[in-house]
Amino acid sequence: MKPAQPDYSPTSDLPARILVVDDEPRLLESLASLLRGRHYQVTEAGGGRRACQLIDEETFDLAMLDLRMPEVDGFAVMSHIANRQPGCGVIVVSGESSFTAVSRALRRGALDYIRKPFDPEELLATVDNVLGKQSLLRSHDHIQMRLEKSEALHRYIVNSSPDIVFMLDGEGHFCFVNSKIETLLGYHPQELSGRHFRDILDDRDVARGTYALNGPNITADNPRTLEVRLKTRGSRRANRHFEITAFPIDPETWPHTGGNGREARYYGTARDVTERKEAEAFINFQAYHDLLTRLPNRALFKDRLELAITHARRENQKLAVMFLDLDRFKVINDTLGHAMGDRLLQAVTQRLERCLRKGDTLSRFGGDEFTLLLPSIHSHEDARQIARKLISALRAPFQLGEHEVFVGVSIGISIFPEAGADMDQLIQNADIAMYHVKARGKDGYRFFSESMSIDTANRLSLERDLRLALERDELKVFYHPQVCSNSNRVVGLEALVRWQHPKRGLLYPRDFLPLAEETKLIARLSERVLDQACRDVGNWIRAGHRDLRLAVNLSPMQVEHPRFVDTLMEQVRAHGFPPQNLEIEITENLIMNDLEQISQKLRELADFGVRIAIDDFGTGYSSLNYIHRLPIHTLKVDQSFVKAIRSGEDGACIVNAIIAMAHGLKLEIVAEGVETDEQLAYLKNLGCHQVQGFYYGPARPADVIEKNLGHLTAKAASF
Ligand code: C2E
Ligand code: MG
Ligand code: MG
Repeated sequence: MKPAQPDYSPTSDLPARILVVDDEPRLLESLASLLRGRHYQVTEAGGGRRACQLIDEETFDLAMLDLRMPEVDGFAVMSHIANRQPGCGVIVVSGESSFTAVSRALRRGALDYIRKPFDPEELLATVDNVLGKQSLLRSHDHIQMRLEKSEALHRYIVNSSPDIVFMLDGEGHFCFVNSKIETLLGYHPQELSGRHFRDILDDRDVARGTYALNGPNITADNPRTLEVRLKTRGSRRANRHFEITAFPIDPETWPHTGGNGREARYYGTARDVTERKEAEAFINFQAYHDLLTRLPNRALFKDRLELAITHARRENQKLAVMFLDLDRFKVINDTLGHAMGDRLLQAVTQRLERCLRKGDTLSRFGGDEFTLLLPSIHSHEDARQIARKLISALRAPFQLGEHEVFVGVSIGISIFPEAGADMDQLIQNADIAMYHVKARGKDGYRFFSESMSIDTANRLSLERDLRLALERDELKVFYHPQVCSNSNRVVGLEALVRWQHPKRGLLYPRDFLPLAEETKLIARLSERVLDQACRDVGNWIRAGHRDLRLAVNLSPMQVEHPRFVDTLMEQVRAHGFPPQNLEIEITENLIMNDLEQISQKLRELADFGVRIAIDDFGTGYSSLNYIHRLPIHTLKVDQSFVKAIRSGEDGACIVNAIIAMAHGLKLEIVAEGVETDEQLAYLKNLGCHQVQGFYYGPARPADVIEKNLGHLTAKAASF
């Protein structure tokens, strides 16, 4: 006998359990002890019946069966084993050696057949062999089962992933895609197999998506994440947003095909981020828009302005920033309530928006303030036109429930690059210009000028200087002739203030008038100008120029003063100046501000014989209604319309209209800003004979005027 070898059980480390069945006690005994000698765990059954009982009660790895037994034979036991313990192997040990018996036994599932009398060595070898095979078989089954389980587990994980999971080959064709794609996009995984991933990219994202997911771009160190829109199919809503992450597959770690024969090179996930995108879009909208008017807010406006400035700088172009502030909004809001105020803001927004072109940005800056960006304008004129449009758009009344309300708008304009090189400066300067509109009677527009924005230190020193100027008599009055173009005679002189600043030289009204108005020094300044002018022109009148007219400009603040008429008349009388030789120039906006009071004052003045002229006519936004309700004598056509004559723009038609209207109303008309022969001829042709402008020279100091007045004609005097 061979020395005992370690026994082997396929299912555990325990010795194999063997059932030995024979009706011959001696044989049973010797077989059992032979096997026990090899440390198998042996159970004996003296017949088929007992064997079946044991099979019902215990588990065996192997049964060694005699075939021929009384009552229950070996075949019956084999059937029982097949039924109850299919994992138990069977070796037949039988004296029966006919071919039929052997083949029958093998067909019933016996693993081997040993003939009695047996050679113990041969028998043990057979037992070891069968048990070994069985163990292999079982571990194979076991592995198979684990594989199936693992496969099911992975399939479950992949298909129940909330994301689309995919594999692509080197060119970007699908090798695999999980079933989530059907739920999310409506494609069956099968139909995508072999198709290129670009087929499901939204058209807008094809270029970007194909570039980003192009194989060579993706490396282990540089996995690709990008957001794209993917096309949906069937009844699904619009295309959805996905966040795609793709990684390369290392062929050494995973040298397999993707299930459809293509070699998978990339794998990845696509996560549906549509909801997040929509939420982001909404938050974004909220962050950059005003929810009441749905206009861009301050932040977005600044952003767009910043971009526009960069562009304008590069292209050497201009741009305009407007600052709009509603007039009378506060009153309406306070009296009709906030709900009405809100409705008004919405209605105002709608009207303003209708005046804009694509590319302009109107924003609600806060409260009743709006800002407007006009990128790439050609000239001030473009901005001027829009400002006029905006003002007239708000002119018609707004219907709020049963209330009809009127709002005006004051607009400050700053032009890049003149009025500021950066965003904050442009906005701030437009704001400053807007305040000047408010200060000068509201409901109009003004371009920013340097004089408006002297910084605080400068401003304080200029303010101090201006006070000193009044004391030291640094303010000078220059006179600009108004000439009758038929006779070439000087018919009037417009008094224009100048400041002979000891350090800065000669300053013009635009440099200091805004400051004078803000600091209320304007009253003393005007008094000084009127004094001087009455003295100068009064002398010339007395010297023989009897009809010479003195035109003086008045600031709204002066006119609005309750004692305006008295103060003016006291001054005029003090100089013995003939009131009928005095013409005061006021602007339309001033009149519109408080029509009732102003017309009362103007009537009083007119009764004293003082003439009244509307300066810069055509630039304000008053209804023409006031013209025949007020004692007006002269309209002064604004320079901008006269300028347009030269350039041959529509403005020339406005000149025609104004002149025709003035004739119809029997008003005198003075055209300002005449510089060329062409303009002069054009105006003459229309019957406008009084002109003022550099054609006859600029405004000059009194001594120059005095010398030349003797000649009486402007041409000869070469003003
Ligand atoms: P304005 O009353 O419309 O005066 C006409 C302005 O146009 C003057 O500028 C004049 O020099 C200028 N001008 C006249 N002809 C031409 C021309 O052919 N081409 C060009 N480019 N310009 C021409 P100025 O003296 O700088 O005055 C500016 C404004 O300041 C005046 O506009 C007036 O509104 C205001 N102003 C001037 N003096 C006084 C004053 O004493 N009191 C008040 N309250 N305002 C004044
Ligand atoms: Mg004037
Ligand atoms: Mg004027």
